Amino acid sequence: MNVIKKLPSIIIDQIAAGEVIEGPFSVVKELIENSIDAYSSEISIMIYGGGIDKIHIVDNGNGMSEDDLQNAFNRHATSKIINIEDLNNINTLGFRGEALPSIAAVSQLKASSIYKDDDNEGAEVIIHGGEMLKKRKKVGNKGTSIEVSNLFYNIPARKKFLKTVNTEKRKIIKLVKEYSIANPNIAFTFYSDDKEILKLTSSDLKNRIIDIYGSSISNNMISIQNTKDAYEIYGYIGNLNTVKKSKGNQYIYINGRSVTSRLLSSAAFSAYQSLVSRGEFPFFAIFINMPNELLDVNVHPAKYEVRFSNEWQLYHLIKSSFSESLKDVMSVIPSMYNKDIKPKDNIVYPENRVLPFPPNLSSSPSSFTPTSEQVDIEKVNDRLKSLPTPNSDNEGKIIWQIHNKYLITEINSGIVIIDQHVAHERILYEQAKAAIDGRGLPSQKLLFPETIKFSSEEYLLLPDIIPYLSKIGFEIREFGQDTIIVEGIPSDMEVGKEINVIKEIIEKYSHSKEINSSFIEYMTSTYACKASVKAGDKLSPHERRFLVDKLFATEHPYFCPHGRPVIINLSIDELDKRFERK
Ligand code: ADP
Ligand code: MG
Repeated sequence: MNVIKKLPSIIIDQIAAGEVIEGPFSVVKELIENSIDAYSSEISIMIYGGGIDKIHIVDNGNGMSEDDLQNAFNRHATSKIINIEDLNNINTLGFRGEALPSIAAVSQLKASSIYKDDDNEGAEVIIHGGEMLKKRKKVGNKGTSIEVSNLFYNIPARKKFLKTVNTEKRKIIKLVKEYSIANPNIAFTFYSDDKEILKLTSSDLKNRIIDIYGSSISNNMISIQNTKDAYEIYGYIGNLNTVKKSKGNQYIYINGRSVTSRLLSSAAFSAYQSLVSRGEFPFFAIFINMPNELLDVNVHPAKYEVRFSNEWQLYHLIKSSFSESLKDVMSVIPSMYNKDIKPKDNIVYPENRVLPFPPNLSSSPSSFTPTSEQVDIEKVNDRLKSLPTPNSDNEGKIIWQIHNKYLITEINSGIVIIDQHVAHERILYEQAKAAIDGRGLPSQKLLFPETIKFSSEEYLLLPDIIPYLSKIGFEIREFGQDTIIVEGIPSDMEVGKEINVIKEIIEKYSHSKEINSSFIEYMTSTYACKASVKAGDKLSPHERRFLVDKLFATEHPYFCPHGRPVIINLSIDELDKRFERK
């Protein structure tokens, strides 16, 4: 007996719908894409009950003739590609010819369309569960209207998996934002249960973002633009005022198509790495254009993913473009502190510093060799202090300290106000990072070495951490009985803060027990925070200058490792405006 039969096309469509249509948001996605592909200049989206009850999309695009409207609901019927070569050069959002039949197979659908060259006369079809129930002539405006009701009404198992109305609604709002940012020239209106959510008139990218996020974002985003080889990147990226605790305001488009790619997002976030903490996400909307042949968009039935022939090239393009723009993130680069003439770090650290704490902790204190070569602290400090200032014109400029908290100085374009604690934090942080990757930092000997006692669990973990602490400039020796002696500390650190720093780092490590990049990040930023001068510390004129000069020699002078601003710039322009001179 033959048991293999070809499935009826309705069932095939329902199965296919499983891949293409996950929920109401996928319907909205496919329909918006179709409207965009049809060159619409206005698209209205109305949803009811989170799109589960009804989704209605109306556009003013090219429309379809009576025959095309019927054909559009056949599987693999598309006007967008004709032969296999076309797959390598797709310039439309759709191309698989699967969306409409899939949606129609799992909902009650009414579609009407009037083709652009036909005189306001077109057709309307009603399809329930993939079955054409009605077809009639229709007069009206050019364009297309598609109403999708009761999604999954005929597949209860799928309907059960839908999320709550609010979750579905949120996903749709996110999606509409995504498409409206990608297509600022198209006017979008979006209603949920007859309530207006978005009303966007035709615009440019910057104003589209402002229309969606409110005018305050305009001061908090910077444009980004770069080309490299066959790639072009442009868009807007947010500063720290746009940081949110949850993801959702990040947009990456490749050749006009919104893509989700962990790798590419991580490229963007990594450029912010030292500016924002983990779990904080800044806004960005970037567009990458590249030759179609370096891209495969036909990887996922719903086209959520794309594949690149060289994703690392893209990774570096994003990371370097972001980093470049972020340098100016608060537009505070004062002209006199020109980055190009920053002082060369000409401090010579002794080669082959002996780590005072050998990686293998032995129980016998006598097995430790004392450091063979000690840094001459006085000399290093002198050298540090005699570093040339960024611009000798500034030599005579006074740096005031107010409330033992902020430093103020004059620059060519106005004045800058610097938070002394976060400035020092930024300096120590970058020093420590560089020290861990490089040759290590000099130490200062403690006149009265400190002993620290640990629990035996923590003590066992110490050998993992000591080499890193030692690179930053701590000199640590085992003392026996779960106790260590701190004999030296980083030379830029104030005496007395060492116990806190070390304890906090060990405590964190005892939870993670893994040395990875996020732990090193934690360690360096904890060190920087705990070791830096505090608000309330009085600084001598010499110390102030040292701090300011060192700050402007850092890579990111504008934000502390935790993301707080370091510098505020008050331009002469701004002052003139405030005093009504202009
Ligand atoms: P695809 O978009 O992959 O071609 P769809 O099933 O989404 O497949 O749509 C099938 C065809 O129906 C499209 O190729 C297009 O010709 C036509 N179509 C769908 N929606 C619209 C619309 N809003 N305006 C004009 N034509 C449309
Ligand atoms: Mg489509």
